[in-house]
This record gives sequence, C-alpha cells and structure tokens, in this order.
Amino acid sequence: MDILDKKDLEARADKVVEQLHSYLDAGKKVFTTSSFQSQSLPLLHMISRVDRDIPVYYTNTGFLFAQTIRFADQLADQLGLNVIPLRPEVPKIKQLDREKRFLYASDPDHCCYLNKVQPLEPVLRDNDIWVNGVRSDQSSVRAAMQVEEPAQHGCTRFHPMLEWDSRMVYFYRKNHDLPEHPMEAQGYLSIGCEPCTMKAFGDGNSRNARWFGMNKTECGLNTTLVSGGN
Ligand code: SF4
Repeated sequence: MDILDKKDLEARADKVVEQLHSYLDAGKKVFTTSSFQSQSLPLLHMISRVDRDIPVYYTNTGFLFAQTIRFADQLADQLGLNVIPLRPEVPKIKQLDREKRFLYASDPDHCCYLNKVQPLEPVLRDNDIWVNGVRSDQSSVRAAMQVEEPAQHGCTRFHPMLEWDSRMVYFYRKNHDLPEHPMEAQGYLSIGCEPCTMKAFGDGNSRNARWFGMNKTECGLNTTLVSGGN
C-alpha cells in the first residue's frame, strides 16, 4: 500500500470509526486516554466524528508542560471533545524518596504508578472499552500488542492505531488541517512530564528522549494496565 494515498488513509480511518460505532451500538461504555501530542490528533479527530461525548481522559500529573495543558484545552474547543483531567490521589508531599527528592529522580516506575496509572484505575472499572492510540513503531512493548486485548479491571483495550506510522499520522493531520503541539517546532517529538522529557536526538525512535538514562520506556499505562501486566 502507498501509505501516503489519501483514499487509503481515509479508508483506514473509516474502519476505526465503524468499529467505535459498533462498540457503542452494542451498549459498551467507551472512553479514550490522550497525551495530547501532535501524534494524538488523528485518533482524537476520529473520536470527534463518532460521538463527542466519549470521555477523553488525561492524567494531569502535576509535572506536565503548561503547553500540553493549553493544547488539550485548545483541542477540546476545536474538536468539541469531552476532555476530563484526572488528578493523582497521593499528594506530592507524600511522593518523596528518603532524600526528599521527587520520586521521578530515583524511582520513576513508582512515580508513574502514583501519577498516571492509579488515577486511571477507577475509570477502567467503570467502562468497557479503552480506546488507546499506541502504535507498533513506537516501542517493542507496543509492537507486541494486539488490536484488541484484555486490560485490567475488566476493561478491553482497543488499539486502532497499531498499524499506523508517523508518516500516516503526519499526512492525516495535513489532510484534516489538524494542529501540532506547540513544542514540536522546538524539537520535542515525544512529550510527557517535564522532568522526563528531552528534545529528540539521533536518528532513532522519538521515544528515546523520554526517561533518558533511566532504563525505562513506558509509563505503566501500556504495561501495568494490560491484563497480565506487572
Ligand atoms: S513521566 Fe516522570 S514525572 Fe511523570 S509520572 Fe512518570 S516518572 Fe513521574
């Protein structure tokens, strides 16, 4: 397939839209999560075509870039999305290590659990389908995922973007005149929490610039909350 072919790209998007409709028609409670990066835009656009009441959750960890929060607000307005921020249950004063540093400095897995995974657990308990925009080309963990697979707390994960790649995302955004995250032009290609995000470097995967030097590639949403995850 010519991945830049507009018709093929739209046909792929139509299939995602159809599947989302079929979940809703079957009475399933559907939600999505988003990190509100430029690469999030195609899936958010498809969701806006299906039902603008579908909740779009994100965990406002307290460490996000202000630009990301503003971009989330912008997209909520522009696409009419039902964006819902989640807050960590454990206050930051109780998220310190023995040396009184924030946990991201010494135990980023636990920091991600408290700030990203735990706030989402009640959402999984209350819903049936978690629409998640992971792509196979982003990491080896994601490459091993299936389009549909069980999540924790009785939910099912739906990964409609698994076979998309960064060029397809780029051209879909172009075709639909969708904006880009304001930090992308400054060289940030994978953007999460401020302490764990660097500008892109080298020729490799853009996610290399996350948790640099920490031997960590995932925040837990795509490992701990997959059924059978640790
Ligand atoms: S990405 Fe970094 S700051 Fe954010 S929750 Fe994970 S470890 Fe903590």
